[in-house]
Amino acid sequence: MRAVVVSIGRELARGLSLDTHSRDIARALSALGINVVRHVTLDDDAAAIAEGLRDAAADADVIVASGGLGPTQDDCTRFGLAEAMGEELVENSEAMAHLETFAKARGRRVRGANRVQALLPASARALPNPVGTAVGIEANLGEARLFCIPGVPVEMHTMFDEQVLPQLADSPDARVMVVRTVRTFGLFESVVAERLPDLMTPGRHPHVGTAVHSGLIDIHIYASGNRDEAEALVAADVATVRKRLGTAVFGEGHTGLEEAVAALLAERGATVALAESCTGGLVAATLVNVPGMSDFFVEGVVAYANASKVRALGVDERLIADHGAVSEPVARAMAEGVRVRAGADVALGITGVAGPGGGTVEKPVGTVWMALADASGTEAARHLLMGDRAQIRLRAAYYALNMLRLWLMEGPQR
Ligand code: ATP
Ligand code: MG
Repeated sequence: MRAVVVSIGRELARGLSLDTHSRDIARALSALGINVVRHVTLDDDAAAIAEGLRDAAADADVIVASGGLGPTQDDCTRFGLAEAMGEELVENSEAMAHLETFAKARGRRVRGANRVQALLPASARALPNPVGTAVGIEANLGEARLFCIPGVPVEMHTMFDEQVLPQLADSPDARVMVVRTVRTFGLFESVVAERLPDLMTPGRHPHVGTAVHSGLIDIHIYASGNRDEAEALVAADVATVRKRLGTAVFGEGHTGLEEAVAALLAERGATVALAESCTGGLVAATLVNVPGMSDFFVEGVVAYANASKVRALGVDERLIADHGAVSEPVARAMAEGVRVRAGADVALGITGVAGPGGGTVEKPVGTVWMALADASGTEAARHLLMGDRAQIRLRAAYYALNMLRLWLMEGPQR
Protein backbone atom coordinates (compact mmCIF):
# COMPACT_ATOMS: atom_id res chain seq x y z
CA MET A 1 0.00 0.00 0.00
CA ARG A 2 1.36 3.42 -0.98
CA ALA A 3 0.65 6.52 1.08
CA VAL A 4 1.11 10.26 0.68
CA VAL A 5 1.16 12.46 3.79
CA VAL A 6 -0.17 15.99 3.34
CA SER A 7 0.21 18.92 5.74
CA ILE A 8 -1.94 21.97 5.18
CA GLY A 9 -1.14 25.38 6.66
CA ARG A 10 0.32 28.65 5.46
CA GLU A 11 2.68 28.78 8.44
CA LEU A 12 4.08 25.41 7.39
CA ALA A 13 4.34 26.18 3.67
CA ARG A 14 6.10 29.50 4.34
CA GLY A 15 8.48 28.08 6.91
CA LEU A 16 7.21 29.90 9.99
CA SER A 17 6.73 26.67 11.85
CA LEU A 18 8.04 23.17 11.43
CA ASP A 19 5.82 20.41 10.07
CA THR A 20 6.17 17.70 12.69
CA HIS A 21 2.83 16.04 11.93
CA SER A 22 4.14 14.56 8.66
CA ARG A 23 7.02 12.96 10.54
CA ASP A 24 4.72 11.49 13.20
CA ILE A 25 2.14 10.27 10.70
CA ALA A 26 4.72 8.81 8.32
CA ARG A 27 6.47 7.03 11.16
CA ALA A 28 3.21 5.40 12.30
CA LEU A 29 2.21 4.44 8.76
CA SER A 30 5.65 2.98 8.08
CA ALA A 31 5.41 0.90 11.24
CA LEU A 32 2.31 -0.72 9.69
CA GLY A 33 4.30 -1.62 6.62
CA ILE A 34 2.69 1.08 4.50
CA ASN A 35 5.02 2.54 1.92
CA VAL A 36 5.05 6.32 2.46
CA VAL A 37 6.20 7.69 -0.87
CA ARG A 38 5.84 11.43 -0.42
CA HIS A 39 5.21 14.31 2.02
CA VAL A 40 3.48 17.36 0.63
CA THR A 41 3.04 20.72 2.34
CA LEU A 42 0.25 22.94 1.02
CA ASP A 43 -0.73 26.55 1.59
CA ASP A 44 -4.15 27.39 3.07
CA ASP A 45 -5.59 27.95 -0.39
CA ALA A 46 -8.53 26.00 -1.82
CA ALA A 47 -7.16 25.74 -5.38
CA ALA A 48 -3.71 24.67 -4.15
CA ILE A 49 -5.29 22.09 -1.86
CA ALA A 50 -7.48 20.71 -4.67
CA GLU A 51 -4.47 20.36 -6.94
CA GLY A 52 -2.26 18.88 -4.22
CA LEU A 53 -4.86 16.30 -3.22
CA ARG A 54 -5.54 15.29 -6.83
CA ASP A 55 -1.81 14.80 -7.42
CA ALA A 56 -1.53 12.73 -4.27
CA ALA A 57 -4.52 10.59 -5.28
CA ALA A 58 -2.84 9.77 -8.59
CA ASP A 59 0.11 8.31 -6.70
CA ALA A 60 -1.28 6.67 -3.57
CA ASP A 61 -3.76 4.23 -2.12
CA VAL A 62 -4.03 6.22 1.10
CA ILE A 63 -3.73 9.94 1.77
CA VAL A 64 -3.56 11.33 5.30
CA ALA A 65 -3.96 15.12 5.37
CA SER A 66 -3.85 17.32 8.47
CA GLY A 67 -4.79 20.97 9.06
CA GLY A 68 -7.17 23.56 7.79
CA LEU A 69 -10.41 22.18 9.19
CA GLY A 70 -11.06 25.06 11.59
CA PRO A 71 -13.96 27.52 11.44
CA THR A 72 -11.99 30.55 10.27
CA GLN A 73 -11.68 31.89 6.75
CA ASP A 74 -8.09 30.74 6.41
CA ASP A 75 -9.15 27.13 6.92
CA CYS A 76 -10.11 25.86 3.49
CA THR A 77 -9.25 22.18 3.37
CA ARG A 78 -12.95 21.24 2.97
CA PHE A 79 -13.32 23.62 0.02
CA GLY A 80 -10.21 22.25 -1.67
CA LEU A 81 -11.36 18.69 -1.08
CA ALA A 82 -14.84 19.37 -2.52
CA GLU A 83 -13.20 20.91 -5.59
CA ALA A 84 -10.88 17.94 -6.01
CA MET A 85 -13.81 15.52 -5.69
CA GLY A 86 -16.03 17.59 -7.98
CA GLU A 87 -18.75 17.59 -5.33
CA GLU A 88 -20.82 20.18 -3.49
CA LEU A 89 -20.37 20.79 0.23
CA VAL A 90 -23.52 19.86 2.10
CA GLU A 91 -24.42 19.96 5.76
CA ASN A 92 -23.54 16.58 7.23
CA SER A 93 -25.96 15.51 9.96
CA GLU A 94 -23.35 13.62 12.02
CA ALA A 95 -20.98 16.57 11.89
CA MET A 96 -23.79 18.94 12.88
CA ALA A 97 -24.78 16.68 15.78
CA HIS A 98 -21.15 16.64 16.93
CA LEU A 99 -20.96 20.44 16.86
CA GLU A 100 -24.20 20.70 18.84
CA THR A 101 -23.12 18.17 21.46
CA PHE A 102 -19.73 19.85 21.79
CA ALA A 103 -21.29 23.30 22.22
CA LYS A 104 -23.99 22.10 24.60
CA ALA A 105 -21.46 20.44 26.91
CA ARG A 106 -19.88 23.88 27.29
CA GLY A 107 -23.21 25.68 27.80
CA ARG A 108 -23.00 27.30 24.36
CA ARG A 109 -24.85 27.16 21.06
CA VAL A 110 -23.34 26.47 17.66
CA ARG A 111 -22.36 29.84 16.30
CA GLY A 112 -22.51 30.96 12.70
CA ALA A 113 -18.79 30.61 11.96
CA ASN A 114 -18.72 27.09 13.39
CA ARG A 115 -21.50 25.87 11.11
CA VAL A 116 -19.01 25.66 8.25
CA GLN A 117 -17.40 22.80 10.14
CA ALA A 118 -20.50 20.69 9.47
CA LEU A 119 -20.06 21.06 5.70
CA LEU A 120 -18.64 17.99 3.98
CA PRO A 121 -18.48 16.85 0.37
CA ALA A 122 -21.73 15.00 -0.32
CA SER A 123 -20.23 11.49 -0.49
CA ALA A 124 -17.79 11.96 2.42
CA ARG A 125 -18.10 10.57 5.93
CA ALA A 126 -17.56 12.47 9.20
CA LEU A 127 -14.92 11.15 11.62
CA PRO A 128 -15.77 11.96 15.25
CA ASN A 129 -13.36 14.23 17.16
CA PRO A 130 -13.48 13.66 20.93
CA VAL A 131 -11.24 16.64 21.74
CA GLY A 132 -12.34 19.50 19.46
CA THR A 133 -15.04 20.97 17.26
CA ALA A 134 -13.52 20.01 13.91
CA VAL A 135 -14.76 16.63 12.73
CA GLY A 136 -12.45 14.75 10.44
CA ILE A 137 -13.38 13.75 6.91
CA GLU A 138 -13.04 10.39 5.23
CA ALA A 139 -13.59 10.31 1.49
CA ASN A 140 -12.69 8.51 -1.70
CA LEU A 141 -10.67 10.60 -4.09
CA GLY A 142 -10.15 8.77 -7.37
CA GLU A 143 -8.75 5.38 -6.39
CA ALA A 144 -7.36 6.67 -3.10
CA ARG A 145 -8.79 6.58 0.36
CA LEU A 146 -8.40 9.98 2.00
CA PHE A 147 -8.45 11.00 5.64
CA CYS A 148 -8.50 14.70 6.62
CA ILE A 149 -7.86 15.43 10.29
CA PRO A 150 -7.37 18.71 12.19
CA GLY A 151 -3.94 20.34 12.59
CA VAL A 152 -4.15 21.22 16.30
CA PRO A 153 -1.59 18.79 17.73
CA VAL A 154 -3.73 17.09 20.39
CA GLU A 155 -6.61 16.73 17.90
CA MET A 156 -4.36 15.44 15.15
CA HIS A 157 -2.81 12.79 17.40
CA THR A 158 -6.07 11.68 18.99
CA MET A 159 -7.88 11.40 15.70
CA PHE A 160 -5.02 9.75 13.88
CA ASP A 161 -4.68 7.12 16.61
CA GLU A 162 -8.41 6.54 17.08
CA GLN A 163 -9.93 7.09 13.65
CA VAL A 164 -7.25 6.54 11.04
CA LEU A 165 -4.78 3.92 12.26
CA PRO A 166 -7.36 1.28 13.23
CA GLN A 167 -8.80 1.48 9.72
CA LEU A 168 -5.40 0.85 8.19
CA ALA A 169 -4.10 -1.77 10.60
CA ASP A 170 -4.53 -5.19 9.09
CA SER A 171 -4.59 -8.80 10.21
CA PRO A 172 -1.87 -10.16 12.55
CA ASP A 173 0.12 -11.56 9.65
CA ALA A 174 0.05 -8.26 7.80
CA ARG A 175 3.34 -6.94 6.52
CA VAL A 176 4.86 -4.46 8.94
CA MET A 177 7.98 -2.32 8.90
CA VAL A 178 10.27 -2.83 11.86
CA VAL A 179 12.91 -0.15 12.52
CA ARG A 180 15.68 -0.21 15.11
CA THR A 181 18.37 2.39 15.64
CA VAL A 182 21.90 1.75 16.89
CA ARG A 183 23.57 4.92 18.21
CA THR A 184 27.30 5.57 17.94
CA PHE A 185 29.74 8.31 18.76
CA GLY A 186 33.28 9.03 17.69
CA LEU A 187 33.40 7.50 14.21
CA PHE A 188 33.39 9.28 10.87
CA GLU A 189 30.47 8.42 8.61
CA SER A 190 32.94 7.13 6.03
CA VAL A 191 34.39 4.74 8.61
CA VAL A 192 30.93 3.43 9.43
CA ALA A 193 30.36 2.87 5.71
CA GLU A 194 33.71 1.03 5.40
CA ARG A 195 32.83 -1.29 8.25
CA LEU A 196 29.31 -2.07 7.00
CA PRO A 197 29.69 -2.24 3.19
CA ASP A 198 27.69 -5.44 2.81
CA LEU A 199 24.87 -4.17 5.03
CA MET A 200 24.65 -0.79 3.31
CA THR A 201 24.52 -2.07 -0.27
CA PRO A 202 21.65 -0.30 -2.07
CA GLY A 203 18.63 -2.52 -2.54
CA ARG A 204 19.56 -4.89 0.28
CA HIS A 205 16.86 -6.01 2.68
CA PRO A 206 16.92 -5.07 5.56
CA HIS A 207 17.81 -1.55 4.52
CA VAL A 208 20.63 -0.06 6.61
CA GLY A 209 21.15 3.72 6.54
CA THR A 210 22.95 6.32 8.62
CA ALA A 211 21.92 9.72 9.98
CA VAL A 212 24.42 12.14 11.52
CA HIS A 213 23.73 14.71 14.22
CA SER A 214 26.54 16.73 15.82
CA GLY A 215 29.05 13.89 15.74
CA LEU A 216 26.54 11.23 16.74
CA ILE A 217 25.88 8.69 14.04
CA ASP A 218 22.66 6.71 14.13
CA ILE A 219 22.43 3.51 12.14
CA HIS A 220 18.82 2.83 11.20
CA ILE A 221 17.87 -0.71 10.23
CA TYR A 222 14.54 -1.24 8.45
CA ALA A 223 12.95 -4.56 7.57
CA SER A 224 9.50 -5.42 6.32
CA GLY A 225 7.58 -8.65 6.42
CA ASN A 226 5.40 -10.25 9.01
CA ARG A 227 6.36 -9.01 12.47
CA ASP A 228 8.35 -12.05 13.62
CA GLU A 229 10.33 -12.30 10.40
CA ALA A 230 11.06 -8.60 10.26
CA GLU A 231 12.12 -8.46 13.91
CA ALA A 232 14.45 -11.42 13.46
CA LEU A 233 16.08 -9.85 10.40
CA VAL A 234 16.59 -6.54 12.17
CA ALA A 235 17.93 -8.23 15.31
CA ALA A 236 20.55 -10.06 13.26
CA ASP A 237 21.72 -6.79 11.70
CA VAL A 238 21.75 -5.01 15.06
CA ALA A 239 24.07 -7.72 16.39
CA THR A 240 26.37 -7.38 13.36
CA VAL A 241 26.48 -3.59 13.63
CA ARG A 242 27.23 -3.74 17.35
CA LYS A 243 30.03 -6.23 16.78
CA ARG A 244 31.66 -4.29 13.94
CA LEU A 245 31.40 -0.86 15.52
CA GLY A 246 32.47 -2.01 18.99
CA THR A 247 32.77 0.58 21.73
CA ALA A 248 31.59 3.37 19.43
CA VAL A 249 28.08 2.00 20.07
CA PHE A 250 26.57 3.61 23.14
CA GLY A 251 22.91 2.63 22.94
CA GLU A 252 19.78 2.04 20.93
CA GLY A 253 16.63 3.95 20.07
CA HIS A 254 16.51 7.37 21.70
CA THR A 255 19.18 6.72 24.35
CA GLY A 256 21.41 9.79 24.86
CA LEU A 257 25.16 9.72 25.53
CA GLU A 258 24.43 11.04 29.01
CA GLU A 259 22.19 8.06 29.73
CA ALA A 260 24.91 5.68 28.64
CA VAL A 261 27.36 7.52 30.92
CA ALA A 262 24.89 7.50 33.82
CA ALA A 263 24.33 3.76 33.51
CA LEU A 264 28.10 3.14 33.54
CA LEU A 265 28.64 5.47 36.51
CA ALA A 266 26.00 3.50 38.41
CA GLU A 267 27.55 0.18 37.38
CA ARG A 268 31.00 1.29 38.49
CA GLY A 269 29.81 3.28 41.51
CA ALA A 270 32.09 6.12 40.37
CA THR A 271 31.73 9.84 41.11
CA VAL A 272 32.53 12.60 38.65
CA ALA A 273 33.36 16.32 38.69
CA LEU A 274 33.57 18.78 35.80
CA ALA A 275 35.60 21.90 35.04
CA GLU A 276 34.13 23.61 32.00
CA SER A 277 35.25 26.66 30.10
CA CYS A 278 34.05 26.85 26.48
CA THR A 279 31.10 24.51 27.08
CA GLY A 280 29.85 26.88 29.80
CA GLY A 281 28.16 24.16 31.85
CA LEU A 282 26.71 22.25 28.91
CA VAL A 283 28.30 18.97 29.98
CA ALA A 284 26.82 19.38 33.46
CA ALA A 285 23.42 20.38 32.08
CA THR A 286 23.41 17.37 29.75
CA LEU A 287 24.42 14.99 32.50
CA VAL A 288 21.63 16.15 34.79
CA ASN A 289 19.08 15.35 32.07
CA VAL A 290 19.26 11.94 33.71
CA PRO A 291 17.31 11.69 36.96
CA GLY A 292 19.17 10.53 40.05
CA MET A 293 22.56 11.97 39.00
CA SER A 294 23.24 13.40 42.47
CA ASP A 295 24.55 9.97 43.47
CA PHE A 296 27.36 10.27 40.91
CA PHE A 297 27.81 13.86 39.78
CA VAL A 298 29.48 15.75 42.63
CA GLU A 299 30.21 19.20 41.22
CA GLY A 300 30.69 21.20 38.07
CA VAL A 301 32.67 24.42 37.91
CA VAL A 302 32.22 26.82 35.02
CA ALA A 303 35.61 28.54 35.05
CA TYR A 304 35.26 30.87 32.10
CA ALA A 305 37.74 33.67 32.90
CA ASN A 306 41.41 32.85 33.38
CA ALA A 307 41.21 34.26 36.91
CA SER A 308 38.51 31.75 37.76
CA LYS A 309 40.58 28.86 36.44
CA VAL A 310 43.32 29.99 38.84
CA ARG A 311 41.10 30.78 41.83
CA ALA A 312 38.45 28.03 41.63
CA LEU A 313 40.52 25.21 40.16
CA GLY A 314 44.03 26.02 41.31
CA VAL A 315 45.41 26.20 37.75
CA ASP A 316 48.93 27.67 37.86
CA GLU A 317 48.89 31.18 36.34
CA ARG A 318 52.17 30.45 34.62
CA LEU A 319 50.62 27.59 32.65
CA ILE A 320 48.07 30.00 31.22
CA ALA A 321 50.75 32.62 30.52
CA ASP A 322 53.09 30.12 28.85
CA HIS A 323 50.61 27.96 26.89
CA GLY A 324 47.39 29.96 26.67
CA ALA A 325 44.04 29.11 28.26
CA VAL A 326 43.23 26.72 25.40
CA SER A 327 46.05 24.24 25.77
CA GLU A 328 46.81 20.75 26.91
CA PRO A 329 48.51 21.74 30.20
CA VAL A 330 45.58 23.97 31.18
CA ALA A 331 42.97 21.30 30.34
CA ARG A 332 44.94 18.82 32.45
CA ALA A 333 45.27 21.25 35.36
CA MET A 334 41.54 22.02 35.21
CA ALA A 335 40.62 18.33 35.41
CA GLU A 336 43.11 17.64 38.18
CA GLY A 337 42.06 20.75 40.09
CA VAL A 338 38.35 20.03 40.07
CA ARG A 339 38.90 16.38 40.94
CA VAL A 340 40.77 17.31 44.11
CA ARG A 341 38.35 20.11 44.94
CA ALA A 342 35.30 17.83 44.60
CA GLY A 343 36.88 14.67 45.98
CA ALA A 344 35.58 12.79 42.93
CA ASP A 345 36.92 9.58 41.41
CA VAL A 346 37.20 11.05 37.94
CA ALA A 347 37.05 14.57 36.50
CA LEU A 348 36.96 16.30 33.13
CA GLY A 349 38.50 19.64 32.14
CA ILE A 350 37.36 21.32 28.91
CA THR A 351 38.80 24.44 27.32
CA GLY A 352 38.42 25.57 23.74
CA VAL A 353 37.81 28.29 21.15
CA ALA A 354 34.04 28.27 20.43
CA GLY A 355 34.24 31.32 18.13
CA PRO A 356 33.23 33.16 16.11
CA GLY A 357 36.23 35.31 17.21
CA GLY A 358 39.38 34.34 19.08
CA GLY A 359 40.84 31.90 16.57
CA THR A 360 44.51 32.00 15.56
CA VAL A 361 46.55 30.08 13.02
CA GLU A 362 47.80 27.75 15.74
CA LYS A 363 44.47 27.49 17.53
CA PRO A 364 41.70 28.02 15.01
CA VAL A 365 38.05 28.33 16.01
CA GLY A 366 36.86 24.86 17.01
CA THR A 367 40.08 23.86 18.78
CA VAL A 368 39.11 22.15 22.04
CA TRP A 369 41.42 20.54 24.57
CA MET A 370 39.91 18.18 27.06
CA ALA A 371 41.45 16.14 29.84
CA LEU A 372 40.32 13.35 32.12
CA ALA A 373 41.94 12.91 35.53
CA ASP A 374 41.64 9.94 37.86
CA ALA A 375 43.63 8.76 40.87
CA SER A 376 46.33 7.23 38.69
CA GLY A 377 46.95 10.06 36.26
CA THR A 378 45.57 12.28 33.51
CA GLU A 379 44.96 11.85 29.79
CA ALA A 380 44.23 14.60 27.31
CA ALA A 381 42.84 14.91 23.78
CA ARG A 382 42.63 17.69 21.24
CA HIS A 383 39.69 18.04 18.88
CA LEU A 384 39.16 20.38 15.97
CA LEU A 385 35.40 20.76 15.81
CA MET A 386 33.26 22.07 12.97
CA GLY A 387 30.26 24.33 12.91
CA ASP A 388 29.08 27.55 14.51
CA ARG A 389 29.47 28.44 18.17
CA ALA A 390 26.48 26.37 19.30
CA GLN A 391 27.61 23.34 17.30
CA ILE A 392 31.19 23.55 18.58
CA ARG A 393 29.99 23.74 22.18
CA LEU A 394 27.58 20.85 21.69
CA ARG A 395 30.15 18.66 19.96
CA ALA A 396 32.70 19.46 22.66
CA ALA A 397 30.19 18.40 25.32
CA TYR A 398 29.55 15.14 23.46
CA TYR A 399 33.28 14.43 23.07
CA ALA A 400 33.75 15.06 26.79
CA LEU A 401 30.90 12.74 27.75
CA ASN A 402 32.29 10.15 25.38
CA MET A 403 35.76 10.42 26.90
CA LEU A 404 34.19 9.69 30.27
CA ARG A 405 32.14 6.84 28.80
CA LEU A 406 35.22 5.14 27.33
CA TRP A 407 37.11 5.53 30.62
CA LEU A 408 34.18 3.94 32.45
CA MET A 409 34.09 1.06 29.95
CA GLU A 410 37.75 0.42 29.37
CA GLY A 411 39.71 2.26 32.04
CA PRO A 412 42.45 4.83 31.36
CA GLN A 413 43.35 5.34 27.68
CA ARG A 414 46.93 6.44 28.38
P1 ATP B 1 -7.93 22.66 12.39
O1 ATP B 1 -8.07 21.67 11.32
O2 ATP B 1 -8.28 22.14 13.74
O3 ATP B 1 -8.50 23.99 12.15
P2 ATP B 1 -5.80 24.08 11.71
O4 ATP B 1 -4.74 23.78 10.76
O5 ATP B 1 -6.77 24.95 11.15
O6 ATP B 1 -6.41 22.84 12.34
P3 ATP B 1 -4.32 25.89 13.08
O7 ATP B 1 -4.92 26.87 14.01
O8 ATP B 1 -3.89 26.32 11.74
O9 ATP B 1 -5.31 24.70 12.99
O10 ATP B 1 -3.12 25.15 13.77
C1 ATP B 1 -3.19 24.85 15.12
C2 ATP B 1 -1.81 24.60 15.65
O11 ATP B 1 -1.34 23.36 15.14
C3 ATP B 1 -0.82 25.65 15.19
O12 ATP B 1 0.07 25.93 16.25
C4 ATP B 1 -0.12 24.95 14.05
O13 ATP B 1 1.17 25.46 13.82
C5 ATP B 1 -0.10 23.51 14.53
N1 ATP B 1 0.06 22.63 13.39
C6 ATP B 1 -0.80 22.50 12.36
N2 ATP B 1 -0.31 21.64 11.45
C7 ATP B 1 0.90 21.23 11.91
C8 ATP B 1 1.91 20.33 11.43
N3 ATP B 1 1.80 19.71 10.24
N4 ATP B 1 3.01 20.14 12.17
C9 ATP B 1 3.14 20.77 13.36
N5 ATP B 1 2.24 21.62 13.86
C10 ATP B 1 1.12 21.86 13.16
MG1 MG C 1 -4.04 25.76 9.85
